[in-house]
Amino acid sequence: MPIEEQNAYNHGNTLEERRRRTNIRKKTNHAIRAGRLEKQPCVICGAMEVDAHHEVYDNPLNVVWLCEKHHREIHKKEINVKMDVRKKGLDYERKLVNELKVLFNNEEIGTSRNLSRIKDSLKCDILNVPMFNIQAKATEHTPPYHGLLKEMPQNTNYNVIFHKRNNKGEVAVMSKDSFYEIIQMLISNGII
Ligand SMILES: [Zn+2]
Ligand SMILES: [Zn+2]
Repeated sequence: MPIEEQNAYNHGNTLEERRRRTNIRKKTNHAIRAGRLEKQPCVICGAMEVDAHHEVYDNPLNVVWLCEKHHREIHKKEINVKMDVRKKGLDYERKLVNELKVLFNNEEIGTSRNLSRIKDSLKCDILNVPMFNIQAKATEHTPPYHGLLKEMPQNTNYNVIFHKRNNKGEVAVMSKDSFYEIIQMLISNGII
């Protein structure tokens, strides 16, 4: 637990509020040591050296992991966690749309935010891609792939999650069944 969180980031609160926060931080540290709370990479840049930051002091386990630099910036209000994480997601969706338009030579491909509100709730971020339902994730932690794939539409399209991590590249995740079906399709079409 960062010393600075206790000192530098504690000004401007009443004594009672400071006590409450200190108490929550103590519990947070205890949870980390006890292994009930696992450190994650900085949500903004992916650095592995992180502090536990509380956006709201409601629950010792409700923390945002931030590197020292981004932690400082958040407290100086230079950046905002929600805005930054949301912007990263949007930027990634736009990047994928541009790539997929070229790959499929199809101008109809777009984000579900732009094309349809309903499909967004069906867990598809990118629409009109032939053969595939696509979700895009730009997060430093590992998305719960298995659960996400199950929540996606169970139609004849293949469900795929694209996941980008800062400076770690991108992966495409699909079920093994989908992968095998694509292989079978390639075989039956004489491609392999
Ligand atoms: Zn960072
Ligand atoms: Zn903090």
